[in-house]
Amino acid sequence: KNNNGKYTVTLIPGDGIGPEISESVKAIYTAANVPIEWEEVSVTPILKAGKTVIPDAAINSVKKNTVALKGPLATPIGKGHVSLNLTLRRTFNLFANVRPCASIAGFKTPYDDVNTVLIRENTEGEYSGIEHELVDGVVQSIKLITWDASERVARYAFQYAASQGRNKVTAVHKANIMKMSDGMFLSACREVAKEFPQISYDEDLLDRVCLQIVQNPKPYADRVMVMPNLYGDILSDMCAGLIGGLGLTPSGNIGRDASIFEAVHGSAPDIAGKGLANPTALLLSSLMMLRHMNLNDHAAKIEKAALGTIAEGKSITGDLGGKASTKEYTDAIIAKLR
Ligand code: NAD
Repeated sequence: KNNNGKYTVTLIPGDGIGPEISESVKAIYTAANVPIEWEEVSVTPILKAGKTVIPDAAINSVKKNTVALKGPLATPIGKGHVSLNLTLRRTFNLFANVRPCASIAGFKTPYDDVNTVLIRENTEGEYSGIEHELVDGVVQSIKLITWDASERVARYAFQYAASQGRNKVTAVHKANIMKMSDGMFLSACREVAKEFPQISYDEDLLDRVCLQIVQNPKPYADRVMVMPNLYGDILSDMCAGLIGGLGLTPSGNIGRDASIFEAVHGSAPDIAGKGLANPTALLLSSLMMLRHMNLNDHAAKIEKAALGTIAEGKSITGDLGGKASTKEYTDAIIAKLR
């Protein structure tokens, strides 16, 4: 908390529609009297010793505040550019990616009872980036699994389950094939499970989980699923598809040194600057952030207003089939807060 009794949070508006959807979140927070002061920083890369890097001011702000809300970043195409998202992940040791997907009333999809939470290991596994050519025509890619990273993400999954009133953790794996790597991931989960006797623990195969969720997502509404990097990448997008796509899904990157909350979608260059973007995903990400900061009442109040506005269907944006501008949708949410 700062001198005004408010929490300072870093805001990275991002590229494309980023500034528009960030404005929307800021307006809603002001109307809801959320005790947060935004510290706005740019992460547009600068040239330092011949390399593109994130400006120090941005890094220092996130370090100091330990919580940040981030809009989408357009990844520059071409050689020599680092992925900014990857840089942020490495800089702040963002070890767990949390992806909840809950059906939104009023937005019709094949199922109306999806309520999944996925926690993905975010630093290693298939994405360790260790690849080499053994001989011409033969390439090896290394899936790196460490006990420490597995235990860390497993512990976070149990803590998250406990804090959100979910009484079960399911580890999702392919240890039948990857006996050593996924096998160790499971061993770490089993060890951590002993620390949380109030939460039940089980294990399921990735392919089985995919098959079952798309046939009946309801049984998965009671638990948190935790898994290695690649499985989480794919399964979380599949769950997003079940509730209507990436435009509605929030995410949180939980780290040792800071946590960064962001929408899953990109910078939408096709509609940027036109006032048409849907700010819901960034808003829901910010609510995960509030809950991470134990500002649960504020989160619940804003969530009710936003989901209520979507359910009514009168002031929703084009991607949801409506005609409202970003501002009209934002104003409708604000009207419900009053
Ligand atoms: P995108 O998510 O930006 O757009 C895909 C489609 O969805 C577009 O038609 C877009 O208009 C629409 N859309 C996305 N978000 C929307 C919103 N909030 N409201 C209404 N419509 C929305 O994906 P893309 O076009 O593949 O990527 C564009 C840029 O974003 C690329 O530079 C990419 O690298 C970057 N990107 C960044 C992130 C991130 O920072 N986390 C994630 C994905 C893509």
